[in-house]
Amino acid sequence: MDVAGQFAELYGYEPTGVWSAPGRVNLIGEYTDFNEGFVMPLALPHTAVAAVARRTDGVLRLHSADIDAPVAELRVDDLTPLALTARGAGQGGWAAYPAGVVWALREAGHAVSGGADIHLASTVPTGAGLSSSAALEVVTALALNDLCELGLTAPELAVLSQRAENAFVGVPCGVMDQMASACATEGHALHLDCRDLSIRQVPFDLAAQGLQLLVVDTRVKHELGDGAYAERRAGCEEGARQLGVTHLRDVPYAELPSALAKLTDEKIRRYVRHVVSDDHRVEQVIGLLDAGEVRAIGPVLTEGHASLRDDLRISCEELDLVVTSANTAGAIGARMTGGGFGGSAIVLVEEADADPVTKSILEAFTTAGFTAPRVFPAVPSAGARRER
Ligand code: ADP
Ligand code: MG
Repeated sequence: MDVAGQFAELYGYEPTGVWSAPGRVNLIGEYTDFNEGFVMPLALPHTAVAAVARRTDGVLRLHSADIDAPVAELRVDDLTPLALTARGAGQGGWAAYPAGVVWALREAGHAVSGGADIHLASTVPTGAGLSSSAALEVVTALALNDLCELGLTAPELAVLSQRAENAFVGVPCGVMDQMASACATEGHALHLDCRDLSIRQVPFDLAAQGLQLLVVDTRVKHELGDGAYAERRAGCEEGARQLGVTHLRDVPYAELPSALAKLTDEKIRRYVRHVVSDDHRVEQVIGLLDAGEVRAIGPVLTEGHASLRDDLRISCEELDLVVTSANTAGAIGARMTGGGFGGSAIVLVEEADADPVTKSILEAFTTAGFTAPRVFPAVPSAGARRER
């Protein structure tokens, strides 16, 4: 049964509409967003789909087909970050994501107080670094924007979704995931300037070039992840402070050697080198894609991995194994993507090499005694939209 049919069965009447929002994978530009730098995500064909109807009595009902939990029933006027934090968003409190969006809309003065009935189902793998959470937020924001005629733009919906995740769910993420889910277009990667949120759609038509971008979900998530993100973030801020700039974005790549010479702390130096060089790699990739030299981005991806592994130190054995086994088997380039310590890697391959490279990665994992990863192609897909 489709999502609208499930809605009708659950709530006893037909939804007003159905909306979808995709997960994303980041092509290049990692840990650069909170440094007000550049990122370049693309939307996946995997989406969160929500059937929604407005209510007028101030009640918000939330249900997910993918979670074994009853309908969450809340009052829009009672939504506060504290209320849900106490319940623990991380432990089965999935409803904090869509509820947080309603809260963020209400806080920003938008007319959502009537409430809504929402039922959703998602094909975005959760916890694989592919932003199932942003898909959930953005689909909620878009549905309410349409149903309540709020007139917000896709970037505005993305920013409100990020606010929901930061302030309501309590996850200190940047804005990349929500912007990708809200603003991506088919056949393109999204160049996002995280300072002013300006975007440009960069042609990334893999099929036309006879190429594939594989996503390799390692299915592992190592524990140190959360603290490490905050630690890297603080280190970058400290680096910017020592260099006399507000954000590392303001250190031009050409001035990286002299900037590094000013830093005495070895760890801060590594973090700064990663961020400034990854911003530069985003520019390199854009130049190559604009010139139609898609294959030439491969080595840039692999350099990006080395930087994440050696300078930022957020990789892990499984992610390194994807990159080395893929490149050894003839991939054009590969890197970990997302927050690190597990999650997913991306591998650029000639279409004809997709199967043998996948096989080599799987064999390498078997040999190492790791759980078999899940491998699928990342077809650059459309952003959030109304389905019907
Ligand atoms: P990621 O965004 O990388 O997939 P997160 O930890 O940020 O990982 O978000 C995953 C969380 O989002 C899940 O633990 C769950 O609370 C929520 N979530 C994602 N997809 C769904 C879904 N289909 N139904 C209910 N909750 C979901
Ligand atoms: Mg997430």
